[in-house]
Amino acid sequence: MRTLSSIYLEVDGKPVKASDLCWIVRAKCGCIDGAMTVDRGDGDVLITAELARSSMLGGIKAIIERSIEDGEVYSLITWDQYRAEGFGNCTHEPKWGIVKVAAPTGQVWATTDRWSHGRRTHKRHIVPESALGDYGVQHPALCGSKPTRIAPPWSVDQNNLGDTVTCRRCETAAGAVRP
Ligand SMILES: [Zn+2]
Ligand SMILES: [Zn+2]
Repeated sequence: MRTLSSIYLEVDGKPVKASDLCWIVRAKCGCIDGAMTVDRGDGDVLITAELARSSMLGGIKAIIERSIEDGEVYSLITWDQYRAEGFGNCTHEPKWGIVKVAAPTGQVWATTDRWSHGRRTHKRHIVPESALGDYGVQHPALCGSKPTRIAPPWSVDQNNLGDTVTCRRCETAAGAVRP
């Protein structure tokens, strides 16, 4: 079995013990918005930024793709460097360098995804508030997409929204302008 103390990774051209290092996520604005150990404790050692991103984001394709699109960069630094720089104090405008598209009045970002329900889309869409929890009608989203026949009603519960990304077509329909 590999032991972490015997693994060295290259940082700034020098070998550093993996146990002295952590992966950090640098948001577009330059602030650190995530950190994790290099050793996952199960024999896995995350030796590339690609593996680190996938592990941090639960291997969920839609979220990994959005992370890349949003310009998040994964890099190795020492725990000492990490402690010195700090985490989660982004005061940039917009926060983390990401413009959040607000739903128009009377509408909300919601999802039909449930962790307990079969195939996930990992997307949230903009729907009228009246669609929330409505089992009677399959309300279409602002982008025109309709839930599948067996989908549960639209929800704004954080447990359901947690691992979803915004629908780009809904953002555009809500008036978002992208560079
Ligand atoms: Zn920032
Ligand atoms: Zn949509």
